[in-house]
Amino acid sequence: NQSLHEFDPDVAAAVDAELHRQQSTLEMIASENFAPVAVLEAQGSVLTNKYAEGYPGRRYYGGCEHVDVIEQLAIDRVKELFGAEAANVQPHSGAQANAAAMFALIKPGDTILGLDLAHGGHLTHGMKINFSGKLYKVAAYHVDAETNRVDMAEVERLAKEHRPQLIVAGWSAYPRQLDFAAFRRIADEVGAYLMVDMAHFAGLVAAGLHPSPVPHAHVVTTTTHKTLGGPRGGVILSTADLAKKINSAVFPGQQGGPLEHVIAAKAVAFKAAATAEFKDRQSRTLEGARILAERLTGADLAEAGVSVLSGGTDVHLVLVDLRDSALDGQQAEDRLHQVGVTVNRNAVPNDPRPPMVTSGLRIGTPALATRGFQADDFREIADVIAQTLKAASPFGGTEATALRERVEALAAKHPLYPGL
Ligand code: PLP
Repeated sequence: NQSLHEFDPDVAAAVDAELHRQQSTLEMIASENFAPVAVLEAQGSVLTNKYAEGYPGRRYYGGCEHVDVIEQLAIDRVKELFGAEAANVQPHSGAQANAAAMFALIKPGDTILGLDLAHGGHLTHGMKINFSGKLYKVAAYHVDAETNRVDMAEVERLAKEHRPQLIVAGWSAYPRQLDFAAFRRIADEVGAYLMVDMAHFAGLVAAGLHPSPVPHAHVVTTTTHKTLGGPRGGVILSTADLAKKINSAVFPGQQGGPLEHVIAAKAVAFKAAATAEFKDRQSRTLEGARILAERLTGADLAEAGVSVLSGGTDVHLVLVDLRDSALDGQQAEDRLHQVGVTVNRNAVPNDPRPPMVTSGLRIGTPALATRGFQADDFREIADVIAQTLKAASPFGGTEATALRERVEALAAKHPLYPGL
């Protein structure tokens, strides 16, 4: 019964160092967030010890009376939160949620139509060496070269040409909203299922600040750790008639024992997502992203060859286009790291540079909104980012130090996990 620090000081030291990193830098990776302490507590609980194959009331193991209560709470809360008829809260991750949903709806050799990875789609939407690209035939739609928005005319044309059994709407790197009704109309026209992967924008949907895909899609998948701000994991929502197929695709189709400690943490996160405080956080997330997009479309940035894909954002992230900049994605990511801002480089559509370098950045505001950032704070960090990206090379010296100090001041103003 030794504590982590007593038993394994090596792991404990790295965990402490990671806590310090999260506290002292500014996290702007669009897919990350800070889970509340109540979520961390549930996830770090004795529930990790319990086997519970099956579903509440129908388990293959004894002693499930308490985990049944917890899993049922998670199911009921997420159904209520999104107005869904059925929910499966067992997928270990977003990728597994997508794998199980596809396993339930289509057969190997069938065709899926999803957003191209290089245009903002996810690996699980049909990338060649992902399970989705290996098991299914893939047709990919794109964003329009001029507007950088999903080209619905192309989606319709490809759907008619390839007759997919499943259309996937959703993205990992796209700054606008999708037209779910149009996707459903096209799916119906060709007799395909519509699956919406709302992993990125689920928190905005829960807060009522983004159109909900639930009324339009046969199946909606999500992660619980991005804008939703819960533990790392996945969820599948569906219409009632598909629930049985989905459940059996998750277990025994894809997984064994569910992670009941994570499911407990999901239940806590769904409770949090129904509060007024959560809505306020999501609305500051959106406001922050708009402020950032506005600053990065300034004339001084244009002069440095830096712009914003699609000219702005409707969601929690901004995609920075560096194709005309002296900096590539790697260099820009490194510069921001130097001043204490964590982002990820990201390919832009038709990127001339290789995927490990890229010509873009994806910058998101959910984690900073969770830290308590208000409009003024977002204006300050947006300016720090702008100054960092337009600075002359070589970058460093007093200029970088001054920017780093501005980042540290913002981090100190909004302490993270003060009790930990
Ligand atoms: N779907 C989308 C749209 C995502 O962006 C991601 C993660 O980046 C996933 C699914 C996969 O989630 P996970 O990393 O939990 O497997």
